[in-house]
Amino acid sequence: MLLERIDIVFIEPCIVVANKVRVKAELSNDISGVMPYLNTVIKNATYNRHAQNLTFTKDVRLITLYPDRVTMAKAVNATDAYQVLDWLKDLINDTWDRREKIVPSYELKSRPKPLEIYGWLPKTNCRDCGEMTCLAFATKLLLGEQQIKNCLPLFRDEYRDLKDPMLEIVAALGYEIS
Ligand code: SF4
Repeated sequence: MLLERIDIVFIEPCIVVANKVRVKAELSNDISGVMPYLNTVIKNATYNRHAQNLTFTKDVRLITLYPDRVTMAKAVNATDAYQVLDWLKDLINDTWDRREKIVPSYELKSRPKPLEIYGWLPKTNCRDCGEMTCLAFATKLLLGEQQIKNCLPLFRDEYRDLKDPMLEIVAALGYEIS
């Protein structure tokens, strides 16, 4: 067994998504070795080899794995968070056990769609970025024609739940952040 425990550090209400919670948890063991295998197994994973993080969605939840911790946004409630983390621990251990039969992937396999990016923007259509809508900004961001720093509201405290996942996705895509 690679990972013995996932210990929740906090469960807090999502600031920007009503009736959802966000979670941070620590991993009892370093899982960096299994991350390229998870990148193969999890079909919608976005893996940043250099930053050592792997982001994916499970239904509406956004999960980001690091070698020593995991964050989850948009979990339904505390019970849901515990269940998903149990599932994740099993997935990590099962993938590690089967690693000799899995071809590891060190590359960015799949690029998110504009609507996925849109989901992590403030969605106010305020135009501060110079675009008419947040969806237009998301589309241009994916094309490399916009920079995340131009979405000024994202960096306000009220949107901090969105900011970190968004920056992780942008970093995984290889785009500039600051
Ligand atoms: S600045 Fe951000 S919140 Fe405002 S329209 Fe652009 S992408 Fe949307």
